[in-house]
Amino acid sequence: MTHPAQPKASHFINGEYVEDTAGTPIPVIYAATGEQIATVYAATPAIVEQALSTAKEAQKAWAKMTGTERGRILRRAADIMRERNHDLSVLETYDTGKPLQETLVADATSGADALEYFGGLAASLTGEHIPLGEDWVYTKREALGLCVGIGAWNYPTQIACWKGAPALACGNSMVFKPSETTPLCALKVAEILIEAGAPAGVFNVVQGMGEVGGALVTDPRVDKVSLTGSVPTGKKVYAAAAAGMKHVTMELGGKSPLIIFDDADVDNAVGGAINGNFYSSGQVCSNGTRVFVQKGIKEKFLARLAERTGNAIIGDPMDEATSFGPMVTENQMNIVLGYIEKGKEEGARLICGGKRADMDGYFIEPTVFADVTDDMTIAREEIFGPVMSVLDFDTEEEVVARANDTEFGLSAGVFTKDFTRAHRVIGNLEAGSCFINSYNDAPVEAPFGGVKASGVGRENSKEAIKHFSQVKSVYVRMGDVEAAF
Ligand code: NAD
Repeated sequence: MTHPAQPKASHFINGEYVEDTAGTPIPVIYAATGEQIATVYAATPAIVEQALSTAKEAQKAWAKMTGTERGRILRRAADIMRERNHDLSVLETYDTGKPLQETLVADATSGADALEYFGGLAASLTGEHIPLGEDWVYTKREALGLCVGIGAWNYPTQIACWKGAPALACGNSMVFKPSETTPLCALKVAEILIEAGAPAGVFNVVQGMGEVGGALVTDPRVDKVSLTGSVPTGKKVYAAAAAGMKHVTMELGGKSPLIIFDDADVDNAVGGAINGNFYSSGQVCSNGTRVFVQKGIKEKFLARLAERTGNAIIGDPMDEATSFGPMVTENQMNIVLGYIEKGKEEGARLICGGKRADMDGYFIEPTVFADVTDDMTIAREEIFGPVMSVLDFDTEEEVVARANDTEFGLSAGVFTKDFTRAHRVIGNLEAGSCFINSYNDAPVEAPFGGVKASGVGRENSKEAIKHFSQVKSVYVRMGDVEAAF
């Protein structure tokens, strides 16, 4: 008997499932049990070719449709995703191990928001008329052409939609490669788009590891690459795309600061720190993993944090009462456990957690270290797991300098009741996506992305349109042409 998570085939090309078992088999493991629930096969060169040539061809007619027509299809896909939210959430849980309590509200729903939002914008992508006396210039916002999307493993449905929806709204086609760790959900996005009326070939999914990603990025027919992944991968992919002068969006890693001033409401600050460190078991790029706490509030904050962290319900992700799931893979679990050991060795004070949970699957207890200093490994490197570092500070000036002392710049948050200070501090922080008295909200209406090594370009909001389209300018002369000879 096949598992309900087993997809019909590995790839989705030209409106249908396609299989090629000559590719390297990729086992799909359910992180909560370690059980293999599905197998997909990495794309062979023949599959990559089929996907790219199909997408290249399909894009022409897609771009000629009106924005209203394209938008209607995207909005229909959003409705289908919402109707099937429960089944899609179960699949997301199998794919990632994230608890159903989260996937029911954060994955297909977020994907549907992107499809609806960009579906709504599609008809409004117009140019300008620039009068020049009798002559004039007009501009047109045109599609880039064939776009490649490459995903990380933490939000497989959301990432496919955050890239696919704006790309398609602008009249591009896409070949999307999910992470080899979570290959299932993007196939459902492709299926739903077809059901909603998208022409075959406009959104395709191929599986594989970095090698397949590399083949997509370097193909001369590809006009744009949008990657969600780590900084080292981002540097490689950006360089490969640059060689072909391709457009890029890079959504990369972070080590973001969350700053809590003495006057903050303690429970709200603790809530922000929990959301910014333990949601999806800490596997969120924008997490505020360096929690700077002003000395006056430190002990109160730590006591309340330990108490509330103790309320996490760790266990079967399919049980809706569970609020904390496993790491996505055994390998990721071991990487995170290695960082926890480093934290202990380097002298941080363990407040809670600090070890593998005593159950099957790749569970690590939510872990808090206090008395962390800026030079410790756990304060410098992205861990991508449930490990919070709490650092002390005295003054605003000091904390801003320390918060900015990192190669990353994805997110930043501040908790204080002093609004003047809140805006001043945010103004001085080097980060793309910021929060005041909150953490990790990611509505589709707000631009999302990083500065410094955390990325280039923005996803979501009207900003994403700029990154999936280009402007053509047309000079129109009404009179005779004057020439020197
Ligand atoms: P990763 O960098 O290992 O892989 C990302 C994707 O790139 C995968 O699909 C992988 O197969 C592909 N890839 C790897 N090498 C490639 C190459 N040479 N050419 C083309 N593609 C290649 O990242 P991951 O471990 O899947 O995800 C975790 C990382 O992603 C973390 O650093 C996290 O912060 C980041 N992330 C960022 C965001 C964001 O929006 N900023 C969101 C989620 C995750």
